[in-house]
Amino acid sequence: LVVLGIETSCDDTAAAVVRGNGEILSQVVSSQADLLARYGGVAPKMAEEAHSQVIDQVVQEALDKAGLTGRDLSAVAVTIGPGLSLCLRVGVQKARRVAGSFNLPIISVHHMEAHALVARLIEKELQFPFMALLISGGHNLLVLAHDLGQYTQLGTTIDDAIGEAFDKTAKWLGLDMRKSGGPAVEQLAREGDAESVRFSTPMKQHKDCNFSYAGLKTQVRLAIASRNIDAKVPISCASRQDRSSRADIAASFQRVAVLHLEERCERAIKWALKIEPSIKHLVVSGGVASNQYVRARLDQIVKKYSLQLVCPPPKLCTDNGVMIAWTGIENFRVGRYDPPPPANDPEDFMYDLRPRWPLGEEYAAGRSEAR
Ligand code: ATP
Ligand code: FE
Repeated sequence: LVVLGIETSCDDTAAAVVRGNGEILSQVVSSQADLLARYGGVAPKMAEEAHSQVIDQVVQEALDKAGLTGRDLSAVAVTIGPGLSLCLRVGVQKARRVAGSFNLPIISVHHMEAHALVARLIEKELQFPFMALLISGGHNLLVLAHDLGQYTQLGTTIDDAIGEAFDKTAKWLGLDMRKSGGPAVEQLAREGDAESVRFSTPMKQHKDCNFSYAGLKTQVRLAIASRNIDAKVPISCASRQDRSSRADIAASFQRVAVLHLEERCERAIKWALKIEPSIKHLVVSGGVASNQYVRARLDQIVKKYSLQLVCPPPKLCTDNGVMIAWTGIENFRVGRYDPPPPANDPEDFMYDLRPRWPLGEEYAAGRSEAR
């Protein structure tokens, strides 16, 4: 079994080829981070154009690096949601073209399920049921994974995701945004005193497992303003004192942002173990899971409950094609795929996009099993 995975749900164009046994044959990511830094955010139309420009090349490179052609593939997996529909469409269109020309089945993949399931590629011991914390630019999800496609949501964000808070903090601190903001904040935080700025932990009074990062973002913005930090002065040009004051804010923000994750995870674990005592793992994935401080703190929490933390390597935490190919493989094995599209696709591919798609909600239309 050899599957090509295609991902275009947000601002990265990614493709990868993975074998049924989990062997990664190739992996290619083309990032729009440069564009984003220049224009200060994702504009759907611009992102769509950027995907369209590179998609053929990215897929070809994934096949070339794997030393394969379309003829050697068993199926094509593609993200159909959640995400920006204009962007998703570029990937789905490409997937249907490849599948149509080589008579291959198509597998529809949920982007957030893929973030969670890629952990099963790297940790073969990871069986259902398990818990997962999915933390990225657009999502902050705490789920109980019962089986493929079956998730109970324990918590989500009521406003922003933690990755968004990292990105804004980076921007306001004048950090280099050419890569995403998260890694820049993590790096600067190493120089700072995490206790120096007293940010309050979000949602202390809410005894549930939901998240909120909008208030913390505001606290950071106010702290920056009160210290007269000018984001237009890049960190590389800041005076020593200015730099150290920015580092203190980065460290204090990171400490509280992650403390919020710790509190919610601990509550969720206590609850989940009562109904599913066989749980042995907490998966932490999505872009923010590549943060070393996040990993270390959550590792302390899971140990208290004799659980094991499973964190994919950073390249598999941020958006990538491997997780799509692998989730495709898992679905293919249980017969969830669509028959090959006609070679001359009449381009009515809009029907199988799911821009809004809650994790765990069955996707009947795209799954042969459900027909
Ligand atoms: P989604 O998966 O919700 O659609 P996304 O496409 O933005 O969102 P990812 O690539 O999974 O997805 O995550 C990107 C986010 O992860 C960005 O907000 C980025 O700042 C953050 N991030 C990446 N590395 C780190 C890090 N080391 N520390 C903190 N945040 C990080
Ligand atoms: Fe993502």
